[in-house]
Amino acid sequence: MRYDRVEWGASRGLLTFSVTNKCSARCGHCLACSGPSEEGMLTAKDILTAYRQAKEVLDIHVVVFTGGEPTLLGEELFDAIAAVSMDGALTRIVTNACWATDDHNARQMIRQLREAGLDEINFSMDDYHSVWVPPENVAHAYRAARSSGFSAVVLAVAEGPKSRVGAEWIRTHIDPDIEIVPQEVSSRAEGPAPAADGTVYEVSSHGYSRVGRARRMRDDLVIPDPLLDKQDFRCMEVMNVVVIDSTKEMGACCGIRLHGNPVLTLGSITDDSFASLMERGFDRTILRAIRALGPRYLLNLARAVDPGVRKRSFYCHICEICEDVTLNPRALAALATVEDRIVADVEARLREETLARQGTASEPAGSDLVPSGLAR
Ligand code: SF4
Ligand code: SF4
Repeated sequence: MRYDRVEWGASRGLLTFSVTNKCSARCGHCLACSGPSEEGMLTAKDILTAYRQAKEVLDIHVVVFTGGEPTLLGEELFDAIAAVSMDGALTRIVTNACWATDDHNARQMIRQLREAGLDEINFSMDDYHSVWVPPENVAHAYRAARSSGFSAVVLAVAEGPKSRVGAEWIRTHIDPDIEIVPQEVSSRAEGPAPAADGTVYEVSSHGYSRVGRARRMRDDLVIPDPLLDKQDFRCMEVMNVVVIDSTKEMGACCGIRLHGNPVLTLGSITDDSFASLMERGFDRTILRAIRALGPRYLLNLARAVDPGVRKRSFYCHICEICEDVTLNPRALAALATVEDRIVADVEARLREETLARQGTASEPAGSDLVPSGLAR
């Protein structure tokens, strides 16, 4: 069955490569469950093959390289960035700055990344990262990245009620003037304007999300979002920000770890074309419901069918709800028994949206959410 693509909204033109699950760190809260003993890396050739296939069906504006620690790819990463950049897409990496052990090493890596054509660099840091990578590394890397020609330099920091390394730590130890942009769980804030050198500098501050390795994080270390228990937030990322992981699996989003997730994993790009995997995602009932009605709708429906389906006492992030649905065989079994109802509810919602667009009805209830601020 084919569906009208309007239901997925405009593509954000963003393609993410989780180029390796290997990492110099093994953070206790890593959504990707990365670590030093993980294996597998994409090559530049793998990345470019998938990128070209993606371009046949999507208007790709931004390519993100994440992991794991993407710089562990070395020359393969530089080659991939160079080729994508030459092709006209904006490039971004997300790194823990393990390479910035001093100012000299930091400058060397920043120069290589800039020479390859990298546009944006995101540094991940917080208490959990600091067990493995001293936060001073980020200070070295930030100094090296300043006025090097990046369009954006972002320090992404996760914080809880007991955090030590947070946005204020960054202001005290790295840059007293950097703008802090809190990424509220239920909304996404606008970033600051570029500085005089043309670069946007910002701290993107967000709460912890208990997904991946953080799944069992203690309640007193996180900040609940009471709205998530009251409102059906729809996910605007699903099928709009697809990811290719280090095993060449394509996923419907990069909000949580794909591996072993039967709903969000679409299939291997070595077995199927990018286009056919997109079609598979577009046609998947649970993904359509995540987009149109939200993960909370699915969790509540699963619990109505089977009251034994687990729900947490509170939620901090929409992806926690999504993981509780998509990784729980009992929830998926319950939802499979009411698939016709889910399809009908999605279709009803889409009809409401169509009427609202045509100006013949008011906007349907529910809120759009672009999940952000997850630790990887
Ligand atoms: S809610 Fe999170 S995990 Fe679920 S599809 Fe959206 S981004 Fe992915
Ligand atoms: S959170 Fe980042 S730095 Fe930490 S293990 Fe995961 S990928 Fe590595």
